[in-house]
Amino acid sequence: MKSSNSPEYSDHFNLQKYFTLYSIGFFVLLTSLLGLVFITHEKKILVNSAVSAAKEFALQLNYHVQEKGIVPNIMSIGNSNIERSEDYEKLDKIISEYISEFPDIVKIKIFDRTGRTVYSTESEIIGSVNTHDQLKTALSGQIASVLTKRMKPMTTDNNENGKMYEVDILEIYLPIYEGHKGMKLQETVIGAFEVYKDVSEVFNEAKMGGYTISLLFILSMSILFLIWQMIIRKADRIIKQKNSEINKYNLELEEAQQKITESIDEVIKHESFHVRYINKDLIMCWELKKCTKTDCPSYESKDLRCWQVAGTFCGGKAQGIFAQKYGDCRHCEVFKHAFGNRINTIGESFNNMMALLQSKHFELQEANQKLNVLIDIDPLTQIANRRSFQHRIENTHLLTLRYNHPYSIIICDIDNFKLYNDTYGHQQGDYVLISVANTMKSSIRRTDEIFRWGGEEFIVILPEQNHTDALKVAENLRLAVHNLGIKHQKSDLQIVTISCGVASFYPWKTKDIGWEYVVKQADDALYKAKLGKKNCVYSASTV
Ligand code: GH3
Ligand code: MG
Ligand code: MG
Repeated sequence: MKSSNSPEYSDHFNLQKYFTLYSIGFFVLLTSLLGLVFITHEKKILVNSAVSAAKEFALQLNYHVQEKGIVPNIMSIGNSNIERSEDYEKLDKIISEYISEFPDIVKIKIFDRTGRTVYSTESEIIGSVNTHDQLKTALSGQIASVLTKRMKPMTTDNNENGKMYEVDILEIYLPIYEGHKGMKLQETVIGAFEVYKDVSEVFNEAKMGGYTISLLFILSMSILFLIWQMIIRKADRIIKQKNSEINKYNLELEEAQQKITESIDEVIKHESFHVRYINKDLIMCWELKKCTKTDCPSYESKDLRCWQVAGTFCGGKAQGIFAQKYGDCRHCEVFKHAFGNRINTIGESFNNMMALLQSKHFELQEANQKLNVLIDIDPLTQIANRRSFQHRIENTHLLTLRYNHPYSIIICDIDNFKLYNDTYGHQQGDYVLISVANTMKSSIRRTDEIFRWGGEEFIVILPEQNHTDALKVAENLRLAVHNLGIKHQKSDLQIVTISCGVASFYPWKTKDIGWEYVVKQADDALYKAKLGKKNCVYSASTV
């Protein structure tokens, strides 16, 4: 059987795979972003502090220059077409001395309002015009800066001549105000400083910080990732296990469904249903039907087979050829066969079967009860039989022993009964047996019980009765039968009589004997009675 829920995992969602893939991508992205944010932030701080330092530097420089009296107008020093005036030399000296205190200041320039270089630590560029946006910004009164890379000659002692290396340079442009002792924004800008600051070292530090942070992040994330992986693996295992269980149940369910369908088909086959169950919505029927309702559109049709109309119920509405062609007549035989609810049919059959089973069960119970009664009753005389006597005497004997009370037994035998049969016939003999039994039964107390001991012999159990009383009862029985006066011409008295033997059991006398012995005693007594004149009661000695 093909199963759509095969236990293989071809389309199983691999949680672990997806999590691993996505989480690695996510961590890489996050780490890069974090490093980038950190480095950018560090750079920003760095640039800001470098700009502040440069500003301070420029202020101090300006102050020094003014103090030395070089400037009433610093801008005039470069006016003489690159001629080194005295003031220029002084300025150059001050700046050279001053700059040596700040090893990270690489270059200083001073521009006039037009952007012309009026001073530079590189004297050859004096007079050249600068058009940098940053310079323009500074000349309009704002501080500006730009970060660039420049080549710088090696400065170490063992450097090879002419060797250069790349450095990060921050170019800072600061406005110079007219007639001031310091830079004040509200005054007129007459020129600008350009300060080149080497920020390679701090930049490297910032980068290193960024890398360290990223590394630490990757490390912690890796640990987190490992833990995550363990959890995912566990979850994946549980999912797989549950999936396999579900698949197993599904398989079992499908098998069960298949079996049900097969058994339903079997039922249908054997019950000669002309209906075939295709699926839960489609039922086919091969019966020749015709609607008996005159208002049904199919009433006129003569040979409408329900397979022609088999269809489905969708949302409670009939779909199918019949419904389309003849209408939704739910009383129509054809319709019913085409759309009938087979489960109901089967359910009904099952109920009927169960009801039948139950009634049969009750009948059986009753029969058993009757049988149980019959098994203890003598069919001819309708008094209890020898089998029943056995149960009763056992019980009586045990009770006697338990409570130390006496009981007595009487055995009665019809005298010359063989002769009676011979004279009057066996059937007549049966009537005698019945009337003797009835007479004796009505002559004893309700607590006493009479049984047919066999043939024409009867036995009576007298619970709680001593020997004297038992002898009286026996005498009563004899008398009762005698008084019946049933004619018996072959008997001495010309009537049917009985002889009785009586025995009693006194438990305080002998505990060790069984009821069989008591019965035997009574039987012996009867025997003695028979040896005599009959129609008498003979007593056994009490035991
Ligand atoms: P006794 O006085 O010594 O008891 O003599 P008896 O003839 O009564 O005793 P016996 O044992 O010789 O004969 C018993 C007879 O009882 C024989 C048998 O045909 C008859 N008998 C036993 N059971 C039935 C019965 O169910 N129906 C009829 N009609 N006769 C039976
Ligand atoms: Mg007998
Ligand atoms: Mg007899």
